[in-house]
Amino acid sequence: MQYEDPQTLAALDRLHRLAHWLGEPGRDLAILAEGNVSQAIGERAETFWLKASGCSLGTMDKDQFVLMDTARSLAILDHETLTDTQIKEMLYGARVDQTSPHLPSTEAALHAVCLTEGGAGAVGHMHPTPFLSLLCSKQGEAALKGRLFPDEIVVCGIAPCYVPYTDPGPPLARASRQAIRNYLQTWGEPPKVVLLGNHGLFALGKNADEVERVTMMAVKVARALLGTFALGGPNFLTEAQAERIRTRPDEHYRQALLERLKGR
Ligand SMILES: [Zn+2]
Repeated sequence: MQYEDPQTLAALDRLHRLAHWLGEPGRDLAILAEGNVSQAIGERAETFWLKASGCSLGTMDKDQFVLMDTARSLAILDHETLTDTQIKEMLYGARVDQTSPHLPSTEAALHAVCLTEGGAGAVGHMHPTPFLSLLCSKQGEAALKGRLFPDEIVVCGIAPCYVPYTDPGPPLARASRQAIRNYLQTWGEPPKVVLLGNHGLFALGKNADEVERVTMMAVKVARALLGTFALGGPNFLTEAQAERIRTRPDEHYRQALLERLKGR
């Protein structure tokens, strides 16, 4: 029984702490039932833990996670047109344990995409207010196109990955999968942050510790970016400057150090 496997249970413990970290009111990342989190299980992410629909990240219990079958979650994307009832049935059908009482988060397929093609081990989805200010602005997409400072590149990657507003659920998962594929083709690595127009963002990490680091840095970037508009708008690093940070040996060293830092 997969639930009794010590690694699967340890992963659930860590994911539960990530959920509370993201839902901590002072962080202003997700309120009420906003946001969701996931954690891959197995060498090839054959299954993953996912937040159940409707519960609050900051206060949820461990039994409000659902163990999902990754292949069945991805199969939801094979159907172009699904009614809301059919989507619900497929979400229930993708649970490993069919007796689990919880409806999985409607973003199950998007999490499965991030944990497979996105190369992540853990994922956090949230709606931080500074990002909403940018993602809901007329000039938001252009404002988010560049990179502002070196540490942003070290933690959040070489470039942002932007998905224009799409209906949440399978359509958003399909659009995000395409954006991740395009990003992989352009940059040769998956994105750390997927920005969703008029919605929020996904932070992709090797593990929950990295999801926290990416989230902290991304939100700091959003605040800094908003501040630049008081003095003429962002002065982005050039592509050559950004590429130089990405390939500098001392930046790789810093990245490795960050990975060794204990998240808590
Ligand atoms: Zn959302």
